[in-house]
Order: sequence, then structure tokens, then C-alpha cells
Amino acid sequence: MITRNIKLLKNPINQSYSQCLKNNYDVLVIGGGIIGFATARELLIRNKHLKVALVEKENGPSVHQSGHNSGVIHAGIYYKPGTMRAKMCIEGLYKTYEYCLQNNIPHKKCGKLIVATEKSQIKSLNDLFERGIENGTPDIRIINGSDIKTIEPYCKGLRAIHSPHTGIVDWALVTKHYAVDFEKLGGQIIYNFKVISFKESKKSKTIEITSANNQQILSDYVVTCGGLQSDQLSLMSGCKADPYILPIRGEYLLLDKEKSHFVKGNIYPVPDPSLPFLGVHFTLRMDGSVFLGPNAVLALKQEGYRWNDISISNTLRLLRLDGVQKLIAKHMKFGINETIKSLFPSKQLKEIQNYIPDIKQDDIKKGPTGVRAQPLWANGTMAEDLVLDIASDDPTDLVKHRIMHCRSAPSPSATSSLPIGKVIVDEMLAKYPNLNVLSS
Ligand SMILES: Cc1cc2nc3c(=O)[nH]c(=O)nc-3n(C[C@H](O)[C@H](O)[C@H](O)COP(=O)(O)OP(=O)(O)OC[C@H]3O[C@@H](n4cnc5c(N)ncnc54)[C@H](O)[C@@H]3O)c2cc1C
Repeated sequence: MITRNIKLLKNPINQSYSQCLKNNYDVLVIGGGIIGFATARELLIRNKHLKVALVEKENGPSVHQSGHNSGVIHAGIYYKPGTMRAKMCIEGLYKTYEYCLQNNIPHKKCGKLIVATEKSQIKSLNDLFERGIENGTPDIRIINGSDIKTIEPYCKGLRAIHSPHTGIVDWALVTKHYAVDFEKLGGQIIYNFKVISFKESKKSKTIEITSANNQQILSDYVVTCGGLQSDQLSLMSGCKADPYILPIRGEYLLLDKEKSHFVKGNIYPVPDPSLPFLGVHFTLRMDGSVFLGPNAVLALKQEGYRWNDISISNTLRLLRLDGVQKLIAKHMKFGINETIKSLFPSKQLKEIQNYIPDIKQDDIKKGPTGVRAQPLWANGTMAEDLVLDIASDDPTDLVKHRIMHCRSAPSPSATSSLPIGKVIVDEMLAKYPNLNVLSS
């Protein structure tokens, strides 16, 4: 398969900030993950005359969630029917395949099984199937134990949902393609620019965005897609504090290469509906390796990929919140179990063997980790849908009015990234009609 030659400007910071300052953008997008780039390219698709830049604090795209995930193209089975999350996932499924085909991005429609291993799980499995049908997940069916073996010969189970259109892709590669689209449409990307403040530039009546190394960019409008930092970016422009972002680390185990033939596609458990996670699953990767996981433990830093990545002030800030305390109390047993499994990966083996008994201790080792941005309302409930926010409706207050924050991009937002980008831009064009007519 031919892959499009994806060359990003190596370090466009060298184009000099003074040039950026002079430029005075129409819109500045903050955050170089999949949502930031999906939004940035969509802005220019909708109005090619806009002058748009994207800033990212790291030295390249998709350094955080968009580059550390399971790589699954989800088919929308799980989500509450009628929600934007459910609709955007199904739309995202079709759009992702279309986009991958158009751009020759390697991907695989390897299918997925959600497997009940105990009789007590069958009702939940059937309910989940009904939900998938209601959501419009294409071609799902219920299969029995012997059919499971024809799809996943090493997997045992009583019953399963088979979703043939679930697939896999490297989401970091998809993000790079969005970035290339954005540049080709005239957008400018600036890495190593960590936004620390917004203020009104009295002289030019625009927003002045300042970076950690004291560089400034001017822009008429701003949209933030900050993932794990989205609550912090919102606070900077005077938005209310919630939804807060809880950093939940997901650690994967890696199946020995010699045993990767044990897994043909994606194998998932029947999820616990009270938890926002899908449970430890078996995921085939585009490079042929197999991930087992991820688990879910509270990270001690927003971008805390390891136990020794600790920010005491941030952890205390979160632990002091009523909502977080309620959540911890509600899921105490789950949290303790996940922490034990994180510290002693061998404890996870039993769970894995429920599905594939042939996997032995020596076949697994520690793999990579990702950190999920879990949005949480002050009352302790999880934000389950897309949340866009601005601090004020008063157009004379530039900083509060002209900065739109994507505070929660509900998982699976890599799958839903193209529809999410579209919804964010719809909202911006509706809120700031100027952007429809601006031409440089
Ligand atoms: C373990 C795990 C497994 C997952 N599995 C799947 C899956 O299989 N399928 C699926 O569809 N989804 C999956 N997801 C969800 C999906 O990966 C994320 O929802 C998606 O990547 C979020 O993209 P984002 O752009 O919002 O965030 P991010 O990718 O985190 O990007 C946000 C960016 O903003 C930048 N930023 C933050 N603050 C600033 C600042 N002050 N200045 C400048 N830049 C800033 C950050 O550096 C970061 O690059 C998974 C997520 C995780 C963590």
C-alpha cells in the first residue's frame, strides 16, 4: 500500500515568532492532538481565506492521547442511544474508513468480539447488542461459543457480539495526515509553544497569547483542544472550573510476538456499565503486535505515564474536589484492584486467561502506557458528551468571549475526530459569524 508522503515542517518555530506576531491570525487553534488538527483543517475547509495557526507545546503532533491509545476504530456499540457521542462514533467510523482509503493510510477491518464468559454476563451482553442495533452499528450479530472459535480460535466464551466493521489504525499517523491537510490548505503549525496566558491587546483589539518562553502571538479568535490540560486552558480565559480533567493512566501488557497468532482481531469483555472504561481487551496492532489492556489507575500528574511522574500540587488539587472524593468512594474497590494489577502485572493474568487460557505468564510483559483525559463535573458525574465552553457571551470582553474551549472530547474521540472537528467549527461559525466572511 502506498502511503502519502507526509512531511511536516520539522520545527516551524524557526520561522520566528516575530513573523507570527506580525501575522495576526484570524483563528489560533491550541493543541496538536487529533482533535486540534481535525478542527484546524475543518476551519480551512469551510473558509479557505481564514488565516489559521495551530500551536502545540510539544515538539511534534500527537505526543499525548492521540499517540498513546489502543488504535481501534470503534463501531459505536456502547454509547447511550441518541447522544452526540453515539452519533459521532458511527459517523466517525464511516468517515475514518473513507479518509484512510482516500489517503492510503494502512488500516485493517479486523472485526471485534465482545465476549461473555459467564452466564451472569449474558443479559448485559444482550442489552448491549440492543443498544448497538439502536445506535446503528452496522452488521452486528450475536454468536455462540462454537462461532466464537471460527473467528478467534484461541478464545473461549459462551456468547459474543460480533462487530465485523470494527477496525484498527495508527491514530498518530492519521493525526499527521490531518496536519498535512492543514498545512496544504495554508495553515501554519508552531511547535514548542506552551500557552500560559491570554490577554486583550488594547492596541490591535485582538487576543494576545503568551507562551512559557515569553513569546506572543496575536489572534482574533482562539479554540483550545488541550486534552489533559483542557481545564487549565479554560481557567486561563476565565471559564468556570468544571468539568475538571482527571488523568487516568492506562497501562498495556504486550503479548510475546511468538504468540501474537492467538489474537486475530479485537476481543473485549462485557463492560461494567457503571464504569467509563471498556475493560481489559486484546487488541491487534497495525505492526502485528498485540496489546492487552489497558487498566485504569489515577495518574499522579496530568501527563503521568509512570508511577514516579508525580505532581503533588496537581494531585492535591484534584483530591480536594468533592466530585473526585465522591468518585473515589464510589469506585474504591475497582480502584484498589486496578492499582494492585498495575503494581503486579501477573495479577492480570487470571483475567486474561478467562478469554485465552493458552496465554501463560512468560508470554506477557509490560507494554506502553497512555493517559486518558477523563472529564468530571463538580458533582462527581463523568461528562459523557462533547462539552464546548466560552467564558462570557459579552462580545466586548474579548478574552472571555472569543476563546472557545473543547473541554471534553468523549472517547472514542480518535474515531469521532472528523465529526467532532465539524461540530466545533459549526459552533464557532455560529457563535462568531465574522469567521464566515473573513478573507485575508
Ligand atoms: C489509553 C487510551 C486508549 C484509547 N483508545 C482509543 C481507541 O482505541 N480508539 C479511539 O477512537 N480513541 C481511543 N482513545 C481516545 C483518544 O485517543 C483520545 O480521545 C484523543 O486522542 C483525544 O485527542 P485530543 O486531541 O483531544 O487530545 P491529545 O491527543 O491529548 O492532544 C491535546 C494536545 O494539547 C496540547 N496542549 C495542552 N496544553 C497546551 C498548552 N498550554 N499549550 C499548547 N499545547 C497544549 C498537548 O500537548 C496535546 O498534544 C484512547 C485514549 C487513551 C488514553
